[in-house]
Amino acid sequence: MDFRPTEQQELLRRTVREFAEAEIRPHVMEWDESQHFPMELLPKLADLGLMGIQFPEEYGGSAMSAVEYCICIEELARVCPAIALSIAAHNGLCTSHIAMFGNEAQKNRFLPRLVRGEVLGAWGLTEAGAGSDAASMRTTAARQGQCWVLNGSKSFITHGSIGGVMVVMAVTDRTKGHRGISAFVVEHGTPGMRAGKKESKLGMRASDTSEVVFEDCRVPAEQLLGQEGQGFINTLQVLDAGRIGIAALSVGLAQGAYEAALGYSKERRQFGQPIAAFQAIQWKLADNATRIEAARLLTYRAAYLKDRGARTTRESSMAKLFASEIAVKAADDCVQIHGGYGFVKDYPAEKYFRDVKLVTIGEGTSEIQRLVIARQLLGQ
Ligand SMILES: Cc1cc2nc3c(=O)[nH]c(=O)nc-3n(C[C@H](O)[C@H](O)[C@H](O)COP(=O)(O)OP(=O)(O)OC[C@H]3O[C@@H](n4cnc5c(N)ncnc54)[C@H](O)[C@@H]3O)c2cc1C
Repeated sequence: MDFRPTEQQELLRRTVREFAEAEIRPHVMEWDESQHFPMELLPKLADLGLMGIQFPEEYGGSAMSAVEYCICIEELARVCPAIALSIAAHNGLCTSHIAMFGNEAQKNRFLPRLVRGEVLGAWGLTEAGAGSDAASMRTTAARQGQCWVLNGSKSFITHGSIGGVMVVMAVTDRTKGHRGISAFVVEHGTPGMRAGKKESKLGMRASDTSEVVFEDCRVPAEQLLGQEGQGFINTLQVLDAGRIGIAALSVGLAQGAYEAALGYSKERRQFGQPIAAFQAIQWKLADNATRIEAARLLTYRAAYLKDRGARTTRESSMAKLFASEIAVKAADDCVQIHGGYGFVKDYPAEKYFRDVKLVTIGEGTSEIQRLVIARQLLGQ
């Protein structure tokens, strides 16, 4: 067991941190207020290898490990959780699904453009009536000759209106339950596919979240992704990996909130001394620093196991559950330590507080993570 990062990993952390500080930090509030995702950032993110973090070099990817993926997402989230969410969804959901289950022709066709940042990836599982119970989806795909015809709509899709490539899950055989769901890769601009309502959100506002509607959308048969009927089962594997990314995002967000609180507590004076001199503040800082380290270890352990080819259903859910919940606490304490200044937009505290709530909801709520963990413990 070796808890030290390699030199290469330390360099990676420094590089992504410097990038986030220089290119993202100055615009965080402006993008948040206008709900603007900065497409202009994509070439720069791609130059750093962040649009194809874990994908093989033969498709233009950076071939980094899952642990390194965590470092990248963490460092983005420390500065802007919304940008981190978008990069996690692009890498960890859409691109990952194609890389894991696509055939060679599909990988050659879609991966290079995704990892070069020419298009953003979207991934559509959730529907208005099917969230935690995603297998109850209503969107259908019916085979007609050499095409599949998609009908239905997907809700809360990250990059639903700005994504260039989308992986979408649809029912191909209703009689088979979750074994009758298949995945398709669909390009933006395909007739019959359109973005619906763009959500106006509490937090993560720079990350686009929109409905996607399919009306007699004809998708060529070669765009079926993976085996027919395996779409939902494959989705669970994609989420095992994706949840490690949301855990890393939570750790990064918590770190950012903690650092903001630490810095402020040394500057803000009351009763003739910095508020950091008060034990009540020190205990908050100590508890958060400890919880963040614990969450980071759980997250890296899940990533380490994934890098060694293990199935990480339990470890991914444990990391996601714990890291997301301690991040909520870190953001809450950050506001509290800032007092009234934590409630106004001149300080970063209120944004962490708004952004953080997503991490206990997206890619499976905390309740669903507990359910997954319990099923693993009980061997169900
Ligand atoms: C900003 C954002 C981005 C998103 N991006 C994507 C995306 O890119 N692609 C995508 O497919 N989806 C995306 N989602 C959807 C997200 O994954 C779902 O919102 C999430 O899975 C919860 O589903 P729901 O909102 O329908 O809540 P529901 O499933 O309706 O849950 C409501 C409440 O009931 C609880 N609950 C439900 N079932 C159980 C149970 N069995 N036991 C105990 N409690 C239960 C939940 O935990 C929750 O507290 C995104 C959501 C947001 C907000």
